[in-house]
Amino acid sequence: MKQADAIVVGGGPAGSTCAWKLKAAGLDVLVLDRAGFPRTKLCAGWVTPKVMANLELDPRDYPHSFMTFDELHLHCKGFSKKLHAPQHSIRRLEFDDFLLRRSGAEVLQHEVKGIEVAGTDYIIDDAYRCKYLVGAGGTRCPVYRTFFRSVSPRNYWLQTATYEQEIPYRWNQAACHLWFFDGGLPGYAWYVPKANGFVNVGLGSMAVQLKRRKGHLRDHWDRFVGKLEGRGLVDYKHFHPTGYSYYLHGNVDLVRQGNAFITGDAAGLATRDMCEGIGPAVESGLLAAAAIVSGTEYTLSGIASLTGSTFLSRILASKFAGTRALH
Ligand SMILES: Cc1cc2nc3c(=O)[nH]c(=O)nc-3n(C[C@H](O)[C@H](O)[C@H](O)COP(=O)(O)OP(=O)(O)OC[C@H]3O[C@@H](n4cnc5c(N)ncnc54)[C@H](O)[C@@H]3O)c2cc1C
Repeated sequence: MKQADAIVVGGGPAGSTCAWKLKAAGLDVLVLDRAGFPRTKLCAGWVTPKVMANLELDPRDYPHSFMTFDELHLHCKGFSKKLHAPQHSIRRLEFDDFLLRRSGAEVLQHEVKGIEVAGTDYIIDDAYRCKYLVGAGGTRCPVYRTFFRSVSPRNYWLQTATYEQEIPYRWNQAACHLWFFDGGLPGYAWYVPKANGFVNVGLGSMAVQLKRRKGHLRDHWDRFVGKLEGRGLVDYKHFHPTGYSYYLHGNVDLVRQGNAFITGDAAGLATRDMCEGIGPAVESGLLAAAAIVSGTEYTLSGIASLTGSTFLSRILASKFAGTRALH
């Protein structure tokens, strides 16, 4: 049986950040991910300057596709506004692989299925043993399912559904656009150009609102890409979008049981106004590592539930998930 001080399940931003800090503190760390890296992760790939700061990553030292936008173009029901808020775009395929390699941790491709407790240790699939177990496996994280799901079930009001694709495309407008509640969509749509000739386009909505309307995001796709074409943003005939769902920030109470921790999407931390998940994943990875290394309390109550601090952010949060989502 292979042994490590800490095993991190999932090598996305939450897992790689936690592994990086544990490794830097001298722990023997093993990351298990069911995917071989670099791997595709459905994501618009928009990151804030705060994420780069938390990762202690100077954009000049990042060797892959990286763009900076000085403003976001927001559109809602015919009105448009340019919001001055510097942001970046990356490609998750590259970004996650870079962070995982940088962590210095040993990485093995393995899909975690069964986790057992053996005294003060955890045993995974009868093959791996550790004292500390970090769940960073995203929405379907096996650590969440084993130790947290029954005692801390997810709030279905906070489930967001997405439908998107990243395509190779020679874009001619280097601006990031977001449309809210457009054409009857109970959610938002995005256009995020990437360096080196890629663009990510997609749709997101609260799953419960779509269900109520007996709809699916695919029903809105053709109209959305027609709009992109009409605005001269993307003219592409071979779309094959796919979907994924994750959870927005609710009451994130129970995130540690013994020496098992959950982080990132496994804990349901994405912001309620912009559905930003990379930032909270990184922050929770840092906090879990600090708890393991220094024995600090592991609480995610300090992680913001909104990306912005404006009135608009509060309106978006209440429009997306509503007040019931808080209970
Ligand atoms: C379409 C879409 C667009 C988005 N756009 C943005 C955006 O622009 N900006 C932003 O900030 N956030 C965005 N998000 C949210 C963001 O992608 C997530 O919140 C973020 O990736 C969470 O990071 P994580 O490390 O917790 O999980 P993930 O990045 O999902 O990583 C989890 C890892 O765990 C592995 N894993 C899963 N199960 C197992 C298992 N059983 N055994 C082993 N390994 C396992 C997976 O292979 C994966 O590598 C978007 C999400 C979606 C779906």
